[in-house]
Amino acid sequence: MVRVQKIIAKNFKSFAKTVEIPMDKGFNCIIGPNGSGKSNVADSMCFVLGKSSAKSMRADKSANLIYNGGKNGSPSKQAEVSVVFDNHDNRFPIKGSTLKITRTVKATGASNYFINDEKRTRQQVVDLLRHAGVDPDGHNVILQGDIVRFMELKSEERRELIEEI
Ligand code: ATP
Ligand code: MG
Repeated sequence: MVRVQKIIAKNFKSFAKTVEIPMDKGFNCIIGPNGSGKSNVADSMCFVLGKSSAKSMRADKSANLIYNGGKNGSPSKQAEVSVVFDNHDNRFPIKGSTLKITRTVKATGASNYFINDEKRTRQQVVDLLRHAGVDPDGHNVILQGDIVRFMELKSEERRELIEEI
């Protein structure tokens, strides 16, 4: 199974400067007070996986994904997040025991993608992730509020969703 080793976030949402978030084997849980940035960690992962809508990362527009300086700091010009995957079992058809996928976004909303630090298109990233069964807009990412929406679906719609899964 594909495993995320770490997330490196630079000026993404509430993460000023560079923050490295290690992920252990098995189940990982992020705890902290309200508003401390737990969901922003999940958003940072969705960002790298290529989620196209800023709203799905709880931002009105892409520029709002960039660190805004908070109360006293100065706003950044660009956000950058990398997700490092373990590739020991060669699930991804690339050389090396790890795979690093990086995405940046500028204030204009323009994004760039990198695979192991080499510039690639979003489609190339999405195609590579598909080898591991990861789909940025698929059902393997369950966001805050999704379960409530699932409960509130009409039974027919819920049935369709289950069939799709
Ligand atoms: P809860 O327990 O309520 O779900 P949480 O730990 O999931 O909280 P988040 O939603 O991840 O918290 O973080 C919210 C914080 O992120 C807010 O303080 C908000 O101001 C900050 N934030 C969001 N976008 C930015 C940005 N672009 N720049 C700086 N800070 C930001
Ligand atoms: Mg939250």
